[in-house]
Amino acid sequence: MTASPAPTVPLFTAEAASFGLDLAPLLQGVVDSGRYILGPRVQAFEAAFAAYVGVAHGIGVANGTDALELALRALDIGPGRRVVTVANAGFYGSTAIRAVGATPVYVDVDEVSLTLSPAGLAEALAGQAVDAVIVTHLYGQLADVAAIADLCSVAGVPLIEDGAQAHGARRDGRAAGAWGRIGAFSFYPTKNLGALGDGGALVTQDAALADRLRSLRQYGWCAKYEVALAGGRNSRLDELQAAVLSAKLPLLDAANTQRRAVAARYHAALADLPLRLPPSTGEDFVAHLYVLRTPHRAALQAHLAAAGIACDVHYPVADHRQPLLAGSAAAPILPVSEAACTQVLTLPCFPGLRDQQIEQVIAAVRGFHEGGA
Ligand SMILES: *Cc1c(COP(=O)(O)O)cnc(C)c1O
Repeated sequence: MTASPAPTVPLFTAEAASFGLDLAPLLQGVVDSGRYILGPRVQAFEAAFAAYVGVAHGIGVANGTDALELALRALDIGPGRRVVTVANAGFYGSTAIRAVGATPVYVDVDEVSLTLSPAGLAEALAGQAVDAVIVTHLYGQLADVAAIADLCSVAGVPLIEDGAQAHGARRDGRAAGAWGRIGAFSFYPTKNLGALGDGGALVTQDAALADRLRSLRQYGWCAKYEVALAGGRNSRLDELQAAVLSAKLPLLDAANTQRRAVAARYHAALADLPLRLPPSTGEDFVAHLYVLRTPHRAALQAHLAAAGIACDVHYPVADHRQPLLAGSAAAPILPVSEAACTQVLTLPCFPGLRDQQIEQVIAAVRGFHEGGA
């Protein structure tokens, strides 16, 4: 096999990571400040991000997986508890559920949106004890979160939103993270709002929960060196990352608009092909990933690679089919999630992707289907 040429259309760039800002002076300012952990820059970012989402409290943490784990701990989810989640979202929710000793209850996703199916959730809530629900706004698409929040509220079960791929996705003016009891976010560099390293945040309207989360992220402290809560961790956000995130936050909506414009171009240019495309080009979709579905994934991926176009699969293995779980109790049957794992393919979609690159991607995908170059 000959090696593919370096992609001329990448999946992400340094320019997309900085939103085109000159971040060096900002970083130098943190170096000179002498404050590196949970200082004024973290506080300022927490307030700004909570306001952006439209909730009262923001809590910076070390990464998105910790955010999910701390959300569960704050809600007293531990051993013997059961948490509904989906199986097509990269195992992050499963990692957090397993970390607190609880059991994931996998529910299938909606055929169109690939996010948690309200009908499936209703069935799970009716069938067995459920202690919490995690809804993932996958690929930047807000789930049917109003229906899901209603089901949870009727059942008296707390809802955690995983907004790690959906910063700024909105429906009826309400943003990802503002629908559930707690919203969890990652600022991994490639996310719509990304740091220059790891970072995460939690948001909530509930002051008591916010206090618990602040304590849990720092050893369970109620005051310095005084431990009051069980399950405490060290999971803090750095001043350096908070400075970067605060500088980028005012540009997030514009960056999301750019991502959405790329998605709309693909949508218009590929709609007549035998592909399944993302369902929305509206404000409930922030185009974190442009994921199409095709029964000919391997061949299309090879064709794109040969044309110098980077693509990826999010995600190839369903949570309940991970090797880690081989041989454990009978795996649930999740036809939509499992089919998606074999068919999903992610095209380049990020702010700063150039017109000519978008055209190159479109020409290559069309070329594959039309049997041309
Ligand atoms: C990236 C991601 C996470 C995990 O975030 P990290 O910061 O990498 O731990 C969680 N959920 C979803 C949906 C993600 O995309």
